[in-house]
Amino acid sequence: MSTQQVRVRIAPSPTGHLHVGTARTALYNYLYARRHNGTFVLRLEDTDEERSREEYTKDIVDGLRWLGLDWEEGLEVGGPYPPYRQTEKIDHYNNIASKLISSQDAYLCFATAEELAALKEEQRAAGAAPRYDNRGRDLTENQRKDYEKEGRIPSIRFKVEEPQVVSWHDAVKGEIAIDSSDLGGDMVIVKSNGVAIYNFAVVVDDVDMHMTHVIRGEDHIHNTAKQILIYKALGYDLPLFAHVPLIFDLERQKLSKRKHGETVHIDYYRKEGYMPEAIVNYLAQMSWTHPQGKEIYSLAEAAEVFDLDKVSKSPAVFDVAKLNWFNSHYLRDLPLDLIVERAMPYLADFDLSKYSKDEINKMVALIRESLTTLSQIKGALAFFFDEHVQMQPELKEIIEKEGSRKVLADLSKSIDEQSVPFGDNQGSKKAVDAIGKTHGLKGKDLYWPVRVALSGSTAGPDLGAIISILGPERVKQRLATALTT
Ligand code: GLU
Repeated sequence: MSTQQVRVRIAPSPTGHLHVGTARTALYNYLYARRHNGTFVLRLEDTDEERSREEYTKDIVDGLRWLGLDWEEGLEVGGPYPPYRQTEKIDHYNNIASKLISSQDAYLCFATAEELAALKEEQRAAGAAPRYDNRGRDLTENQRKDYEKEGRIPSIRFKVEEPQVVSWHDAVKGEIAIDSSDLGGDMVIVKSNGVAIYNFAVVVDDVDMHMTHVIRGEDHIHNTAKQILIYKALGYDLPLFAHVPLIFDLERQKLSKRKHGETVHIDYYRKEGYMPEAIVNYLAQMSWTHPQGKEIYSLAEAAEVFDLDKVSKSPAVFDVAKLNWFNSHYLRDLPLDLIVERAMPYLADFDLSKYSKDEINKMVALIRESLTTLSQIKGALAFFFDEHVQMQPELKEIIEKEGSRKVLADLSKSIDEQSVPFGDNQGSKKAVDAIGKTHGLKGKDLYWPVRVALSGSTAGPDLGAIISILGPERVKQRLATALTT
């Protein structure tokens, strides 16, 4: 490989929200660029006028930024090779297509949609694979004129010579060889409405933007063969291609919007309260092995050691249980202030002014280990904010027991006597233990009534911490409510 500066890109189509697969491909491009002090470019393949939407562009940009996959050039950032939207390059693609017509590598094709549909139907009936039969390749001057007179508007087709083998060394897959007869015949590169087709526009863009490596999903392998033919016809040098494996579900089905709904979108995980650090770590290790076998690492750590030779050849499996494991880890491990800040949108329904900043930090610290996603924080902390503790009817029995009533009344008395050291979690718990001792109660006979009275549940975080954070007023009020139930 030459000593050229590495230039890689992600080129999403804004026809849907940012897909998990696109995010992983973006991640590998990002890591490769960082590892080699290269440049990562974001551009948009937005020529599908019907399906492209600005809201999807925004979602893709926001999603990539949220994951921390910042790009040095391209959309919203600019750079030396604009524009970064294909719809702004229509004339340019047409100029290059004209060159291919002049060199007789491409031609005007006058076939109508009806003729092509009839051809497809014939092939289907004969049990043959659908392909263009290259019938428009050698029109006579008169035939062409007749079609024009009829008012037919031509598309531009690129000649795919057969037979020939298109081969390349793929940085992930190794040697790849594709028979050109499997490429579907001469291919449209510019539609009759003047809009360039992906396989053509992408070559022009990759050349315009001096891409050294094209790292993308394995589903593009046949496209790569087509694109190589275009590179060659235009006399351009080939970039290095790397095809990363597809992502399957646990049943070995491709991750798709149709089958998996919103769970294929990064936005879904963002709203559910997944940490971007967890998603990045999970996606990175999905098809790539850290050279030191590490499982937990940051984006920056991965960027220090990432390379394509450690990317797997076989499909990745998306396993939400594993993602949850990573997420729990980061919820536990990231700085508390960051978790509190990220938790705020989920706590918006609570009157946070009831507690000090320090108390809120303590609440989050108290329960973060129990969370799988940050959105669960609302349920986990609700009891702190409820004016009246919500209690399942069956739990009432617990606080109605005679022993329980004694414990609750004594705890209230201890508070009046200032023998519960609020602010000291262990001390607060010991105060409860001391009450238990006087009544010969321990374990759930002692703790459950207190838990139920204070939080409406027999399970939950450390009891001493609950008492400490609630503070004397609230604890007393909750005990009183429980005793009158
Ligand atoms: N728009 C294509 C996609 O999202 C890009 C493919 C490529 O990287 O060339 O799959």
